[in-house]
Amino acid sequence: MSAEFPFPCCRCGYCCLVETCPAGQFFFGVGRYSLCPGLSFQDDQAVCQIALIDLEIIGGGAGCCIKARAVKGDKVYDFASLPVDLKKDLAQALRRRKAA
Ligand code: SF4
Ligand code: SF4
Repeated sequence: MSAEFPFPCCRCGYCCLVETCPAGQFFFGVGRYSLCPGLSFQDDQAVCQIALIDLEIIGGGAGCCIKARAVKGDKVYDFASLPVDLKKDLAQALRRRKAA
C-alpha cells in the first residue's frame, strides 16, 4: 500500500460527501462542492457509480485519502487513522446535514 494512504478505506463516504472528485465533476457536470450525483449508500457503505464501471477512473482502492485533522479537546487526530465506526458516524452526521 502506498505510504500516502497508509490506512484502508472503509467506504464511509466522507470524502465524497465533503467534495466531488474531479472525475465526478467531469462526468456529472457538477461543481466541487455540489453533492455528487454518483454517490449512493448501500448497507451504509458508499457506492460510486463511476467506480462500478472502472475503479481506475477515480483512482480508488489505494486507501483512505482524507488528510483532514479532527480535533477533540487538546488531541489532534488524523481522519484516515480513525476507527471505522467513528469514520462512519462522522459521514452519517455529514449526510444528515447535507440532506437538511
Ligand atoms: S464520482 Fe465517485 S469517487 Fe468521485 S465524488 Fe462521486 S461518488 Fe465519490
Ligand atoms: S473518507 Fe477515507 S475511509 Fe471514508 S470513503 Fe473516503 S477514502 Fe474511504
